[in-house]
Amino acid sequence: MSNSFPQVNINLPGIVDNASKMKAKCLSMGIELTGVTKGAAGDLEVAKAFLKAGLTRLGDSRLKNLRSFQEAGLKAEYMLLRLPDPDRAAEVVELADISLNSEINTLQSLARAAQKRNKVHRVIIMVDVGDLREGVLPEDLPDFMAEAMDIKGIEIIGLGTNVGCYGGVLPTKENTEQLINLKRQLEEELSLNLELLSGGNTATTILLDEGKMPAGINHLRVGEGIIQGTDITHQRNIPGFSQNNISLSAAIIELKQKPSVPRGQLGHDAFGQKPTFVDKGVRWRAIVALGRQDVRIDGITPDLAGAEIIGASSDHLLLDVTETEVELKVGDSLDFALDYGAMLSAMTSGYLGKNYQKTDS
Ligand SMILES: *Cc1c(COP(=O)(O)O)cnc(C)c1O
Repeated sequence: MSNSFPQVNINLPGIVDNASKMKAKCLSMGIELTGVTKGAAGDLEVAKAFLKAGLTRLGDSRLKNLRSFQEAGLKAEYMLLRLPDPDRAAEVVELADISLNSEINTLQSLARAAQKRNKVHRVIIMVDVGDLREGVLPEDLPDFMAEAMDIKGIEIIGLGTNVGCYGGVLPTKENTEQLINLKRQLEEELSLNLELLSGGNTATTILLDEGKMPAGINHLRVGEGIIQGTDITHQRNIPGFSQNNISLSAAIIELKQKPSVPRGQLGHDAFGQKPTFVDKGVRWRAIVALGRQDVRIDGITPDLAGAEIIGASSDHLLLDVTETEVELKVGDSLDFALDYGAMLSAMTSGYLGKNYQKTDS
């Protein structure tokens, strides 16, 4: 599908390079790394790039992606990141070596499915340290664990936490340390041996860079930081990593001078919003063959200096290109950088081609 426009451009050497840097950075702190492929919608080439960098553990939120990796023969340890649906316990046990969990009933379903296959399924119990997405609340954890540890067919290998997703709660030494304190408490009260403390996702890598990772955290699950070299929760580029490994290109399909305020009676736009306009006079406007069906428009930024996105519908992206310094013409392709949400949507879109860059340019 290369050369079909619009397309996502995937810089595989950049991803390999970031993955080996992230691995080294983690290793130097005694931390094991699971490379998370879900941001690239389980793209097989991206998964291969992770393995090429020496990662041996892959995590994804979708069983479908884990299946496609295994059908393609990729050798890795697989972690399911989204809490399992108990009705799909058999598939979870088949496809994931480890899953993240927070419900007793689900653990029982996983255990039954594992026993049917003469397996022991490994689980990490998620603890909610404040972001209010998944996880058992710390005060409920001892009772939860007392019940979970008696379930045959599963092995509880550790505790995990996730921040920076729903509540926008940032990882700190304090909330990450909670995991270590809980582990100690559980080991004393229940004689549980919890080897793995999975401290978080890309958002938590800032603690590595700042030297604030609490000793005892020995696992991280990182996607965005490897793929794009960014950390959107802290609005930062990870130092020394390459950015923009996944970008977008699309062609200009109309280029005309038009007034900046629409003519006629104004209602709502195609997305139910009431747009407002500032009269800047007549402007050079480009329409690009890209729309809300292809990508989350709010998260894209044109590379071209001076170009400004002024709106989008399902299939049309409108840019004011009056201030740009290059001669544009219909048929020219424009490049866009993607934030995490835009990358997710672009990789998931069924309308975009994929252009894999395989060697360093
Ligand atoms: C998505 C996800 C990750 C990885 O997040 P990134 O921000 O891409 O690093 C880690 N853990 C869980 C539970 C996730 O859902």
